[in-house]
Order: sequence, then C-alpha cells, then structure tokens
Amino acid sequence: MIASDLETGIDRLRECLARSKVMAPFTGAGISTECGIPDFRSPGGLWTKMSPIGFDAFRGSQDMRDEAWRRRFAMQERFGQARPGRGHRALAQFHRAGRAPAIITQNIDNLHQASGIAEEHVIELHGNTTYATCLDCARRYTLGWVSERFEAAGGRAPDCPDCGGHIKSATISFGQAMPPAAMRAAEKITAACDLFLAIGSSLAVWPAAGFPLTAKRNGAVLVIINREPTDFDDIADLVIRADIGATLQPFAAD
Ligand code: NAD
Ligand code: ZN
Repeated sequence: MIASDLETGIDRLRECLARSKVMAPFTGAGISTECGIPDFRSPGGLWTKMSPIGFDAFRGSQDMRDEAWRRRFAMQERFGQARPGRGHRALAQFHRAGRAPAIITQNIDNLHQASGIAEEHVIELHGNTTYATCLDCARRYTLGWVSERFEAAGGRAPDCPDCGGHIKSATISFGQAMPPAAMRAAEKITAACDLFLAIGSSLAVWPAAGFPLTAKRNGAVLVIINREPTDFDDIADLVIRADIGATLQPFAAD
C-alpha cells in the first residue's frame, strides 16, 4: 500500500512500530543525502558523472589505484564534514529504546556509528570508506596516512609497507566478495525481525537487495521509505514515497 501523503505515511508507520517487537532497519544512500553525501542513482547522482572502478581493475593496475584514491580524496570534504541526519537520529533512538538490535546498512559513510550506535551493532554490507585496509594482510590504515604517502609520491597510491599488498579504502567494490561476518549478521536479524524498514535504497544492488525480500518471505512486515519507486514496492506492506528526514523526524526527538 502506498501512503497517499506524508502525514498518512507517518501515521501508518507509527502503527507498524507499535505492533513490532524486533525491527530491522536497512539503510541506503538516501538516508545520507540530507547530510551532504550524494547517492548514486538519483538524477545528478554520482554515477551519472563517472563509472565505478571494479575490484579487478583496482587490483590489476597502479593507474586505477591512483585514480580510485584521487576520487576518494576529492570526496573527503563531503565525507569528513557529514554529520548524522534526522533519519540516522531516529534509528539511533529506536536502537537505544531496545527496539532495533542492529542497523543493516549499505552505506559506507560511518554516519550510523556517528549517531551513537556502537560499531558492533552497525552491520556494514559494503564496508566503510572512512579508513583503509591492506588487501593482503588486512592491516588497517588511516586516510591521513594514505594521503601523506600519496601526496609525497606525486599522486601514486601506496602499497602496504608490511607485506607489499595494495591498500584500498575499506569498502566493497563491484566484483569483490561480500564480507562473510556482516552477511551472516544481516541474515540473522532479517530472520528474527517482525518489521523490516528499507530506507533510502533503490533496492537495485544485489545481494544486499535480497534482505527485504527474505524478511517479507519470513513473514515480517515490510515498509519502504524512498522518494522514488523501487522494484519491491508491490510486495511491501507500506510504501512511503517521501523525504526520509521529514518522515523520520517525529521519531528522532530525544
Ligand atoms: P542508490 O543511490 O541506488 O539509491 C538511493 C535511493 O535513495 C534513491 O532511490 C533515491 O530516490 C532515494 N533518496 C535519496 N535521497 C532521499 C531522501 N532525502 N528521501 C527519500 N529518498 C531519498 O543507493 P543504494 O540503494 O544505497 O545503493 C548504492 C550503493 O552505493 C550502496 O550500496 C552504497 O554502498 C553506495 N553508496 C553509499 C553512500 C553513502 O555511504 N552515503 C553514498 C552513495 C553510494
Ligand atoms: Zn599488508
């Protein structure tokens, strides 16, 4: 059912929340657009500007690694300054109230953690762009460390001083394996929840998009909050096609 307007959507959402014991919020780039981080698929989104660098390309070429890091540093002003929005704050509130044991997110911006949710309760399906790791030995590096070496080498991406492996922002690129622990954690909460809230995702990126479908098949109520239609609107119990911040603001107050 598609809510006819924002007020009706908020009322229906309130009813779903009142009936739920275990909620599983599942977030995508749309929850962070009001924080100044563009999404990928909205008109004017990142992918209308440049195509992504896949995992094999990154591993296979120094030029691609240089380009990937150039792009990452170009985004730093946005990522570095972003603060949690109304959607993040509402979900943090649900978590604190013991109603949402964990947040499943496709986002890489660290904003759920910044909203006060401990990192073990943020299930990151696509990793995190606020730090870097060595692809071979998994040693963790700060972006500051990478950027110093990058600048000193005239725009050349550094390799790991310990093992010589390539250093990549800790995100999951196309063609890269999904993180097994996060996938298991997301499966567990998807199976356990009675309310699944898909927020700000085009639900077009697989396998992440499988979670709302699984939740629905397991009998959970499925709510989709997204300003554009998604492929799963037909099977959702409630679709709120409105701004996420405006929809979740009433739940964000302390
Ligand atoms: P997407 O770009 O495919 O879809 C975002 C959806 O959010 C769009 O359908 C758009 O209509 C909607 N939206 C945007 N702002 C909104 C708002 N204020 N209110 C309501 N709806 C809004 O994003 P996705 O489904 O998360 O998939 C993209 C992938 O790219 C993700 O897997 C993620 O890893 C990555 N990504 C992450 C970030 C981030 O961390 N903030 C940003 C861009 C891309
Ligand atoms: Zn290493």
